[in-house]
Amino acid sequence: MTNKLTAAIAGGGIGGLATAAALAQRGWDVTVYERQDALRAVGAGIYIWENGLRVLEALGAYDEATAGAFRGTHFEQRDAQGQIIESAPIDTSKRLLTVPRSTLLEALKNACLRAGVKVVTRAEAIGATSRGELLFPNNETVQADLAIGVDGIWSKVRSALGLELLHEQTREGAIRTMIPAHPDDFGPQDQGKYIECWNGERRFLITPVSEKETYLALTCPYEDQAARAVPVDKALWAESFPQWKHLIDRIGEATVHWGAYSITRCRAWSSGRTAILGDAAHAQPPNLGQGGGMAMQNGLALAVNLEGVTDKRDIPAALERWESTERELIEHCQRWSILYGEVTYLPDEVRNRVVRGAMSDPWIAAQIFRAANHAPTGTK
Ligand SMILES: Cc1cc2nc3c(=O)[nH]c(=O)nc-3n(C[C@H](O)[C@H](O)[C@H](O)COP(=O)(O)OP(=O)(O)OC[C@H]3O[C@@H](n4cnc5c(N)ncnc54)[C@H](O)[C@@H]3O)c2cc1C
Repeated sequence: MTNKLTAAIAGGGIGGLATAAALAQRGWDVTVYERQDALRAVGAGIYIWENGLRVLEALGAYDEATAGAFRGTHFEQRDAQGQIIESAPIDTSKRLLTVPRSTLLEALKNACLRAGVKVVTRAEAIGATSRGELLFPNNETVQADLAIGVDGIWSKVRSALGLELLHEQTREGAIRTMIPAHPDDFGPQDQGKYIECWNGERRFLITPVSEKETYLALTCPYEDQAARAVPVDKALWAESFPQWKHLIDRIGEATVHWGAYSITRCRAWSSGRTAILGDAAHAQPPNLGQGGGMAMQNGLALAVNLEGVTDKRDIPAALERWESTERELIEHCQRWSILYGEVTYLPDEVRNRVVRGAMSDPWIAAQIFRAANHAPTGTK
């Protein structure tokens, strides 16, 4: 006989697993329902800023998630000629690490398993109710004290609860891939850097994630059909970014197809005893590298706000408290991430001036790095 409160979570991605671990570590009986046949990361590499790293520490997943990670010293933007537009040193008091997504997901999964979380795969939630229920095909219903939809941008839980205000897909999107890293990939002046190169509306982002692998993101608008084709047209991309032909030539078949970015906004993050978070509730374009960080920190914050709740009737009020403390920062980050993406559509010369001005303006930098500078709820 147990009197633990129960949580049923739809979605075993970054946000779902962080939430599951945080709840289970606080005594909840948690089950994650994932539609894939295994917990599997989609994507290639990922930036984790100070806020996300603190969450990983709080969940006991930091060491595993960051083993062998790359820690850049500068974030650099370059123009079509390969000239530096702006080279911003990364403040050493704030950590920024880049890792393979698979490493992050594995570390979160192991934190879940250590805390006793149960994982059910091939389980696609098709709906939910405000009474803590997740609905599955064949009229199957899972009843819990708390249900949570962390089921990504096309969230069925969000739709079923009627919480959606906006789900917009951007014109811009990215192809993502991982290539093997070679020791002579970067000249002496390029060592230790994250390098973002622009040429017209195409963007090429180079992110080392370990000594062995480099993550590449190839970004372009939907209308640029040749650039968004997979297999990647290497000659076309090398023509736009000739300095990086040696990396482009190494692009293999393990490439995530071009996908537009999603922006989601909801009238509320919960209804009764069912909540949504992560991309389901607050997806943002990846320009600040914070969508995953926000998903993890919001999952931890949810669990912290439920501390002390022993009666399921108190859950709706705790969820409202959670939303009222977390929403402002997350929406701030979402706004600035959208704004950053707008520079894509400026003529090259104008973009250069805007990027240079923005990166050297302390007020703008404070807005962009606000989430990274903030200690998330539940962390030290
Ligand atoms: C190009 C690109 C680059 C990015 N770079 C970064 C970065 O550097 N740093 C960063 O912090 N963020 C980054 N992000 C954002 C980040 O990937 C997301 O914000 C993050 O993955 C959100 O986590 P989530 O758990 O909410 O959703 P997801 O990671 O999408 O996970 C959702 C999970 O739910 C499962 N699922 C879906 N529907 C159902 C269902 N009905 N029932 C059961 N399971 C279901 C899916 O299979 C998946 O496992 C990037 C995004 C993009 C597109």
